[in-house]
Amino acid sequence: MKKKNIAVLGSTGSIGRQALAVVDAFPERFQVASLAAGNNVELLAVQARKYQPKVVSIENKEKARELKEQLQGLPCEIVVGREGAAYAAAFDEVDLVLAAISGIAGLLPVIEAIKAGKDVAFANKEVLVAAGQLVMNLVRQHGVQMLPVDSEHSAVWQCLAGEKREVEALLLTASGGPFRNYTPDQLRQVRAADALKHPTWSMGAKITIDSATLMNKGFEIIEAHWLFDMPYEKIKAVVHPQSVIHSMVQYVDGTILAQLGPTDMRLAIQYAFTYPERWENSLERLDFSTLSELTFAVPDTKRFSCLSLAVEAGKAGGTYPVVLNGANEVLVDLFLHDKIGFGDIPRLVELTLAAHNGIETPSLSDILACDQWARAFVYQKIKK
Ligand code: NDP
Repeated sequence: MKKKNIAVLGSTGSIGRQALAVVDAFPERFQVASLAAGNNVELLAVQARKYQPKVVSIENKEKARELKEQLQGLPCEIVVGREGAAYAAAFDEVDLVLAAISGIAGLLPVIEAIKAGKDVAFANKEVLVAAGQLVMNLVRQHGVQMLPVDSEHSAVWQCLAGEKREVEALLLTASGGPFRNYTPDQLRQVRAADALKHPTWSMGAKITIDSATLMNKGFEIIEAHWLFDMPYEKIKAVVHPQSVIHSMVQYVDGTILAQLGPTDMRLAIQYAFTYPERWENSLERLDFSTLSELTFAVPDTKRFSCLSLAVEAGKAGGTYPVVLNGANEVLVDLFLHDKIGFGDIPRLVELTLAAHNGIETPSLSDILACDQWARAFVYQKIKK
């Protein structure tokens, strides 16, 4: 049987490393076609030596020389920068692209992959937040599949499972983050180190902060809107601190289908890689004898206003979600470096959205320009 050739974009990150673990679990079925990363030249070199991909891409141009030295003698093509990642995603031998770069940096590689007719195992939600319409138009035009990797979307996808039943609502579960029970005063004191302790999932730094602000859930609502062609009114977030139910679909007769599992992203990654098949694995199983309770609550959008800011930007459409994402990326980075407080994230996202003059049907260059505008706007506000 021919092995499936996978381009692993964001290979040094949390999702990328777990995707490589899925490859390790099925060495006779999967092969790494290419690896793409940002800065982590040491890990990228280790991965390249282990998986012997045809193409290795590094974003940081200054680190490219070091990578070339480390990979001397290895028969692989080394490419650099944004174009490098796009090439790693779209060259001939690739069968499937894992989109797991974080942020809008992943947009161009995803676009090039789709244009080259590749199916995409999709984790990089900021791409659909910023450019949902454009990307989904390309998906339809090129007849490729977007296979969800985000655990909530994987859950919804599995609960929808090919049947044409009438959906009343998509119910996306949210752990509520580490500060679920904090008062507004306590929230003001929060530092990056506290926010990086996610109660149930182990993830990259950026998405961990987005989970703490609930921006992540807002992004996921936008992502679900595009992936499942579902109006915003039919997508709801439900706080479920145990993260056992990964999401649910409610049908018009009141039936609710849920997908449950351990909090292990390898499950969703594997399903995206093997779809439409399910393969036996040795991952941990959910143990009902140790599950004492499953609880649910409505998200508090007063304390966690990023959720409603995201949904409003999604509903406003056009370039508003681009600006939402661009401002948020900068603010999360500043928060991670202890330059701003936790409450500054929603405050400045709101300010940036309010100052934006939206474009209804943006082109790719409009999207990239609005992203830059939002980033510059935030930096300017921080300096004042
Ligand atoms: P990480 O921060 O752990 O990893 C990000 C990856 O992207 C790293 O490999 C990084 O490289 C690479 N990268 C960053 N910028 C660039 C760039 N400009 N060009 C090329 N590569 C780049 O993030 P996660 O793995 O946690 O998340 C990745 C995506 O998946 C995000 O969009 C996130 O929202 C989504 N996601 C993550 C989940 C999780 O459990 N982690 C769950 C669901 C979705 P380097 O480290 O070498 O700089």
